[in-house]
Amino acid sequence: MTVTRTRRRVLKEIAATAGVIATGSGLSAKALAASGRDADVIVIGAGLAGLNTALTLQDAGLSVLLLEGSNRVGGRVMTLDKVPGRPEAGGTEFGAGYARCLSMIDRLGGFPMQKWLDTVELPFALHVDGTTMPMSAWAESPLNQLVGKERAAGGPLMGPFALTMMYAPRPSPLNGLDSWLLPEAAPLDISYGEFLKSRGASEAALRFISNDTPTGDVGTLSALWQHRLFRFQEFMGGIDGLNRIATGASRFPEGIAKLLKREVAFNTHVTAIRADKDGVEVLTKAGRRYRAGRVVAAVPLPLLREIAIEPALPALQAAAVREIPYDNMVNVFFAVKEPYWKVDGLPGSLWTNQPMGRMYHFKSEQGEYLWMNVRHPQSPWIRMTDAEVMQDATKALNRIRPSTVGRIEALAVVNWSAYPWTRGHNVYRLPGQIARYGNIVAEPHGRIHFAGDHTAATMMGMEGAMESGERVAVEILQLT
Ligand SMILES: Cc1cc2nc3c(=O)[nH]c(=O)nc-3n(C[C@H](O)[C@H](O)[C@H](O)COP(=O)(O)OP(=O)(O)OC[C@H]3O[C@@H](n4cnc5c(N)ncnc54)[C@H](O)[C@@H]3O)c2cc1C
Repeated sequence: MTVTRTRRRVLKEIAATAGVIATGSGLSAKALAASGRDADVIVIGAGLAGLNTALTLQDAGLSVLLLEGSNRVGGRVMTLDKVPGRPEAGGTEFGAGYARCLSMIDRLGGFPMQKWLDTVELPFALHVDGTTMPMSAWAESPLNQLVGKERAAGGPLMGPFALTMMYAPRPSPLNGLDSWLLPEAAPLDISYGEFLKSRGASEAALRFISNDTPTGDVGTLSALWQHRLFRFQEFMGGIDGLNRIATGASRFPEGIAKLLKREVAFNTHVTAIRADKDGVEVLTKAGRRYRAGRVVAAVPLPLLREIAIEPALPALQAAAVREIPYDNMVNVFFAVKEPYWKVDGLPGSLWTNQPMGRMYHFKSEQGEYLWMNVRHPQSPWIRMTDAEVMQDATKALNRIRPSTVGRIEALAVVNWSAYPWTRGHNVYRLPGQIARYGNIVAEPHGRIHFAGDHTAATMMGMEGAMESGERVAVEILQLT
């Protein structure tokens, strides 16, 4: 609550001052044309970060032009409106502490919300190394090679997948949500594997936990990044507080876009940004040029790497943009033609230690579907066509869960690793990358500014994207 009040006060003050600033720099259309500029500020990317940047600057009286490479707003928020059951392929769950998202939802007039726990079937069935079983059988299973208290971790609800939380340090070594960036946290920026071993995790536990990390290997992930994630999850109050928009998560970015005075310029793929002392020039793949006083690049790092920036970023910032990785993710959605769980007596949802990962059975007023969520970095599905993935995924599921044969049908694939406007699912950090780069990806470079969830210092996911939009807007308003 303190965070929200402070943020609101700061924004109010800035908006009040910006009203004054705007008379000088928030130019009318005529004055803008005369100045040779298309807007005060150009924002690249109409995901939540870019949309919140544009709206906050517009609220403060600046003219903003939002350029978007694809033909829709929302970026990694994507409801598959045309697929039966209306599955969510991207950002969906709003945590209880998502102050910015929730106050924006209020501003948009509210949406019907559903509790995540009311839409997903829990517990999960478990598949380990060729055997499918109820989660309750795991503690005594001969396949259970875990040791001591690891054996019964998670109980009949979560099983071996609760090992991650079991080894999360409590209390967190991070006091604040942004403490991961403090110099005193740098010694924690070792490999997550090293950290887990220091806590006594067995080899079998390391394999299970690896399966649940973005890299598929605890050795190649920063332990400090994981601590940041755990601290964030702790702040959010766990899965009980998760809510989704019943009419589809995409209604949220679409609602913000409707508040913008200028239409988003779709199918506008930005390839270069040039800045000098007078302003910025933004170049597109189609050869168009736009001019403004400042620019905000609110695009994920895999896309930012491909935008030519002039003058070049300082060496450390350029290295951070080049090297900070994103994890893979392929989503496969299935229709349930017949309730296969009535045939084998196991729950509809399934956790596996196979590359195919997890499968959630969702059931709500909108319909029913299965969501197979594949994060394994070596999954061959990353490089296959959607049709090939559907075929392979159906076979894989039929193999480990024979009751699904003839009772499910693949409906859609969303391959975030191949999605041209993201090329990955989410940002993470390799061991040592937090100590080396801190949050340098958020640093302004003259008239060029950066937003996106990867630049957020406190929150993560959709709330991190909103935070970054607010932070960059304030940064610009203070400079304008
Ligand atoms: C499968 C999945 C599940 C998730 N679940 C959750 C969840 O439950 N809760 C949660 O809080 N978060 C979740 N997230 C994360 C959340 O969706 C993201 O953190 C957030 O949407 C990121 O917003 P963004 O604006 O920073 O980036 P993006 O949404 O990636 O937006 C970037 C925009 O930039 C555009 N763009 C890229 N390059 C260019 C270019 N060169 N020129 C012009 N435009 C360009 C893209 O088209 C895109 O619209 C999930 C993400 C995924 C993929």
